[in-house]
Amino acid sequence: MSLPTFEEADATAQEGSPFSNGTEGECWMENNCHRCVNDAPTRRDEWDKGCPLIMVALLGKTPNAWMERNPYGLYDRYSCIYFRDEDDPGPGEPTPIPDPPGQEGLFPREPFERPGRMYADTRPREVSVHG
Ligand code: SF4
Repeated sequence: MSLPTFEEADATAQEGSPFSNGTEGECWMENNCHRCVNDAPTRRDEWDKGCPLIMVALLGKTPNAWMERNPYGLYDRYSCIYFRDEDDPGPGEPTPIPDPPGQEGLFPREPFERPGRMYADTRPREVSVHG
């Protein structure tokens, strides 16, 4: 799934800033954009290759890719459907999943495929068990 361009994201964004102040925005971005592969170029000072959704937000609109999750949260206010951790290798399967070989489809797939797909974090995690 590729990111929309700035023009595409701006055209579908909601009017109104996604955050009330800079602290709210910085807290959310710290937990999302600052570790997302889509804004990694700016961490290498390649400013012209940054995430266009951030630019939309900085210009006072809320990208439609940011789904409200916790209206009172600082770090989890939104879930960005394009978020992907920079260290996440991905699901390891092509998307969309190809038709099985030798199968004929009853319907064309394109109208039914989702335009966006949220990545699951596939990195191994350590968990603790409390007894
Ligand atoms: S894709 Fe979403 S989480 Fe990633 S940098 Fe862009 S706005 Fe932030």
